[in-house]
Amino acid sequence: QSTAAWIDQVIKQEEIDKYLINGKDFIDEGKILKNLEEGHNPDPVKIREILQKSLAIERLDPEETAALIHVKDPDLWEEMYATGLEVKRKVYDNRIVFFAPLYCSNLCVNSCVYCGFRTDNTREKRRILNMDEVQDETRAVVSEGHKRMIVVFGEHPLSDADYMADAIKNIYKVKVPARSGYGEIRRVNVNAAPMSIGDLKKLWEAGIGTYQVFQETYHKETYARVHPAGLKANYRWRLYALHRAMDAGIDDVAAGALFGLYDWKFEVMGLLYHAMDLEQQFGIGPHTISFPRMTPASGSWLTTHSPWKVDDDTFKKLVTILRLSVPYTGLIITARERAELRREVIKVGCTQTDASTKIGIGGYTEALKVLNNVQQGDQDEDAQQFILGDTRRLDDVVRELAEMDMITSFCTAGYRCGRTGDKIMGLLKSCTEGKFCKLNAVLTFKEYLEDYASPETKAVGEKLLEKELAEIRSIPFFKRGKLLENFENYYQRISTGERDVYI
Ligand code: SAM
Ligand code: SF4
Repeated sequence: QSTAAWIDQVIKQEEIDKYLINGKDFIDEGKILKNLEEGHNPDPVKIREILQKSLAIERLDPEETAALIHVKDPDLWEEMYATGLEVKRKVYDNRIVFFAPLYCSNLCVNSCVYCGFRTDNTREKRRILNMDEVQDETRAVVSEGHKRMIVVFGEHPLSDADYMADAIKNIYKVKVPARSGYGEIRRVNVNAAPMSIGDLKKLWEAGIGTYQVFQETYHKETYARVHPAGLKANYRWRLYALHRAMDAGIDDVAAGALFGLYDWKFEVMGLLYHAMDLEQQFGIGPHTISFPRMTPASGSWLTTHSPWKVDDDTFKKLVTILRLSVPYTGLIITARERAELRREVIKVGCTQTDASTKIGIGGYTEALKVLNNVQQGDQDEDAQQFILGDTRRLDDVVRELAEMDMITSFCTAGYRCGRTGDKIMGLLKSCTEGKFCKLNAVLTFKEYLEDYASPETKAVGEKLLEKELAEIRSIPFFKRGKLLENFENYYQRISTGERDVYI
């Protein structure tokens, strides 16, 4: 089948139309501009009431988010940062979940002006991994200690849904000897182009965890400008990608916007309206929200010259506003950002991040081959989508977080016990999931320290574990039923070499 014939059959208009309400999109530019206009000069009393609502783990209304966006007073901002962290602690405790991205292919039919993979970028070295190579890459990732992966693809007939499903199945097959037993990937998430419900069902059957699609920009005119051709030029096909995933049975979906393409205030409002529409149509919002900032990419003028680039201070503010607006939704900060900034925004409420990241196609295996010749930070602009800001290894980031009293979680239990979709959202909203997760975070952290950590990380990590154990033993919730007893039993079993036991 030719690429042109494939392109012709990807978009199914009826799988857009079915989600429109009265023929309209959930993104109404006029409404967003009105919200933003009316949010000017917010009353501090009103802002403090809004913070109380976030602390009650309730999603904010657009008028409330717009008010937060317009806060100028530095003292009030300090209160907002502190509330962001408090909200995170209430829902997610002091956990950070780690994952590793795996780029399987940079073949792409689209022309996104900000991306190194765009079809007209002749500098890009094109490559698609075969299944042996997918397994090799997985082995390298597992050897670092990772348990979660997100697979990423350009949009191309050679990396269609069948290829993706194959990649997912091959990743789950890989087992790599660890100090005790073996390591493996226990959850495979996917970041890929919008698909039809039929194709999404193939990913569901292959065992996908979360399906992630970033809208890039919610602003239609900007969207058209930065996606001048190809399948991605269809704004609505993308806008309802997560709706189709829900209909395909994938109830953990992940939204995001690429910050730097248009006004960050508009994008924050767009993300909120997206979450609200999913809640309205499916009873559940996105599992996570991402806010990648546009970073330099091969041959892309826009990535260094956009007038909408977001500075560090504004970035921290927008992450805080998202934390407060959707208190129970996971927030992902990636290795696009430098270490110092990652630390800052983790403090205001992020729940997931990556480390040891390689985004060149075949990058993990390459790095192993030339381990002694190449600096850890070396990156080839023409073989990857963009340039990373933080190339530190997982062990280093885990240690840094442990020093900040944050526990690294490799937990994938919720997903495997059916705590997904509306079930997990219910638990998150009532702050109960955080408790299960705390136990599983401790168990998986213990596993990591035993199997992969350097002596320095192990020393810092063990100290943190002692603190966590003391806390768990003192919290009445855990004394219910056999919860604490089971946990103590599992912890002991992990210490003596058993793996993958969870609450
Ligand atoms: N091709 C699929 C798509 O476009 O949905 C898969 C995603 S793409 C490989 C992953 C994400 O990377 C994009 O959705 C975009 O938000 C982000 N991205 C692209 N270029 C970027 C850049 N220069 N800096 C930071 N993030 C970028
Ligand atoms: Fe292709 Fe995705 Fe890059 Fe656009 S962002 S050029 S669709 S890989």
